[in-house]
Amino acid sequence: MDIWSMTRPALEEWFRSRGENPAKAAIVFRELYQRGAADFSGLPFSQRVKSALEESFTVEMPETETVSGGGDTVKLLLKLSDGEYVESVLMRQAYGGSVCVSTQVGCAMGCKFCQSGRLKKRRNLTAGEMAAQVMKLRREYSQQIHSVTVMGIGEPFDNFNAVRDFCDILTDYNGLALGEKHVTVSTCGIVPGIKAWGELPHPCSLALSLHAAEDGLRSELMPVNRRYPVREAVAAALDFAEQHNRRVTLEYVMLNGVNDSPEHALQLAELVGGSRRFYVNIIPYNGNDSGFTRSSRERIMAFYDVLKKHGVSVTMRREFGGDIAAACGQLSSRFRK
Ligand code: SAH
Repeated sequence: MDIWSMTRPALEEWFRSRGENPAKAAIVFRELYQRGAADFSGLPFSQRVKSALEESFTVEMPETETVSGGGDTVKLLLKLSDGEYVESVLMRQAYGGSVCVSTQVGCAMGCKFCQSGRLKKRRNLTAGEMAAQVMKLRREYSQQIHSVTVMGIGEPFDNFNAVRDFCDILTDYNGLALGEKHVTVSTCGIVPGIKAWGELPHPCSLALSLHAAEDGLRSELMPVNRRYPVREAVAAALDFAEQHNRRVTLEYVMLNGVNDSPEHALQLAELVGGSRRFYVNIIPYNGNDSGFTRSSRERIMAFYDVLKKHGVSVTMRREFGGDIAAACGQLSSRFRK
């Protein structure tokens, strides 16, 4: 078992079952997540307890296979213990680092414009394999982590429990102590997942990958829409936002000539329907060999203007990583060829 998969309550239970004080779990968490310890040797416990920890848990991290980028954005291709690969991105900003985490090896959702879908789903990641991505980047780049986006390869709600545990570890007061609003889980719109997420006591924030406001086009781009039509997904996201007093991001990747006309913007404005609970994040498409291309700046601006005019909160993603293949799945698919 790797230690990164243990939530604090699970680790408390581990101590308790050995007749030890469960409060030791918090000490382990602080040592690993806050002080960045690489092993258990520095813990203020008896040798017997440290040996028991060493026997039960590894503190290993995945190995770096390749690095791309440098400067503000770096992307690592990481090799997992079974030889599979995942990728993680660190974006460095003045106030700290933001890490983009993968949740699966490959992805089963098959969105037409996305490279990850073509990798096919090979397996789920464990919570520990997600946490280790964050800790790996933190260690390699000596960077305090300010926020985490669960927007790498994979569909988080196709791996619900592990993603839930991972978020618990990130937000644990004795762990990285990130605020729930500083961790964003992005889903392609699996409605039961969105609902279950809303039922958690302290869920992290939600983003919904929309990319089209109308069922016909969205089903073409994103097969998941045939099961969960766009209005159901948006309604579930709105319920979540109201239940937890949050705003939900609607992600919209601009695909040239496909979903980027002023009429598409109007449909989107109508779908948002004046709700202040949503804000739209317009994302320039990172081209790959999918056949889709990126919308021109002019088209993006015209789209943006229509949304603004209709009172929709809208932001444009600052461009990170296009030059380093940081869009989902691009690095590992290149590597696999
Ligand atoms: N499966 C989840 C999270 C992973 S993808 C989801 O669908 O939300 C994170 C975001 O990047 C999604 O909005 C996805 O649609 C988008 N994306 C995928 N390929 C992209 C590309 N080539 N350029 C820009 N965004 C892309």
